[in-house]
Amino acid sequence: MGDTEMEKGQLIGNIAGRIPELIEKAIDMRNYSYAPYSKFRVGAGLLAANGNLYGGCNIENAAYGPSNCAERTAFFKAVSEGVQDFTAIAIAGGPEEGIRDFCAPCGVCRQVMAEFCEADSFLVILAKSVEEYEVYTLRELFPKSFSPKDLEKV
Ligand SMILES: [Zn+2]
Repeated sequence: MGDTEMEKGQLIGNIAGRIPELIEKAIDMRNYSYAPYSKFRVGAGLLAANGNLYGGCNIENAAYGPSNCAERTAFFKAVSEGVQDFTAIAIAGGPEEGIRDFCAPCGVCRQVMAEFCEADSFLVILAKSVEEYEVYTLRELFPKSFSPKDLEKV
């Protein structure tokens, strides 16, 4: 096991007690999803560094472009309440009938995560259920990203 994997194991260990709650939140938030066009319901549970948990669902629009993903809904709810430090997010998505596969965040949501989260320590949990999930660091999902650090070089 390499250093990176050991560090990831440590990060997972730090929030292990809250992972079921995060996943349950993500799955529950699917109930609030507004997805009349794609019929693909996504929920997210975002854990802030202060321990707060923010839920989000995807919210579609007849004009398609204004649609918002579950992950960004959760982030924007938190940021709009003054919270900007985050630890992990659980994501659960699939057709209305149920979750069949792991649902990874889209590129736009990964970019929003990169704005607020440390790539090597923020954890993204892709969940089918409380028992079946995968954990990635943001760096693994979004390597070589453009982030606020790049603007520090200006
Ligand atoms: Zn997205």
